[in-house]
Amino acid sequence: MSELPAQVRIREVGPRDGFQNEPEVIPTADKVALIEALAHAGLRRIELTSFVRADVIPQLADAAEVLDAVRLPEEVSASVLVPNERGLERALEHRAKFQEINGFLSASETHNAKNVGRSIEESLSGLGRTFARARTEGLRCEGVISTAFGCPYEGRVPPERVLGIAQRLADAGAVEIGFGDTTGMANPLQVRDFFAAARAGLPDVELTAHFHNTRGQGLANVLAALEVGVESFESSFGELGGCPVPVGATGNIATEDLVSMLHEMGIATGIDLVTLIDASCQVERLLGRRLGSHVLTAGPVQWSHRDQAEPATT
Ligand code: ZN
Repeated sequence: MSELPAQVRIREVGPRDGFQNEPEVIPTADKVALIEALAHAGLRRIELTSFVRADVIPQLADAAEVLDAVRLPEEVSASVLVPNERGLERALEHRAKFQEINGFLSASETHNAKNVGRSIEESLSGLGRTFARARTEGLRCEGVISTAFGCPYEGRVPPERVLGIAQRLADAGAVEIGFGDTTGMANPLQVRDFFAAARAGLPDVELTAHFHNTRGQGLANVLAALEVGVESFESSFGELGGCPVPVGATGNIATEDLVSMLHEMGIATGIDLVTLIDASCQVERLLGRRLGSHVLTAGPVQWSHRDQAEPATT
């Protein structure tokens, strides 16, 4: 086994990927308080919101208000997701409040058509223009490829196709590419082979893994990615977020679970797990229900030594 990285970067995507999939609309002030709490926990990359059409995703209709209100320490790199040039122009009215944009498309034609109503080629040329404009504003560009490990409509997506799209995004100015397992179809061997090829093919690009825990394989996939040198991950507090297809699917891997596993393995994240758990508890109170993260339920490993004298279980 190759040596694991000593530290990794984690981008918290819950305020966008999480809240956009909640049935209720979260009040703006609560979103802002949560984002600030996540920064306080040590998260240094946070995706704040998305400039999509309010009639499509009403949960994020307050993107401008969130950006205006949020106060983050200088060391936090804030990003917004933009679907196209129009979304970018709206975001740029609040340019001072973020440092990165994420532009996305799917690796499968069917998923891309259903998601954004465009062909992959149309999405790529749109993102080319979006990234070019963003770069003139000094913004860092991340390209995110959804369904990179499988598509609920088309099944397996050939890795060559995904890497070809990644190369086009890099050529368009993306310095980081996120590979999304949007509906949790990836397995660890597939992940290992994929990222080994991606590292060889895209040596100058930051490779980011965005796993969903739809089938309970999220953290196994993280380990597989770590083993081939991936040092950048995206996750969501409380395991929020996900994809409405298939119906009832659970969300992103939970940031608490990811941080707990990495720390137990001696890999630094800069995140204080207990403070992060406090932030997620805030959200549980806000939503009035339990969230999916395991560590949120069980507590950090150290806590299992206390208050647990009984019963003896195996
Ligand atoms: Zn996700």
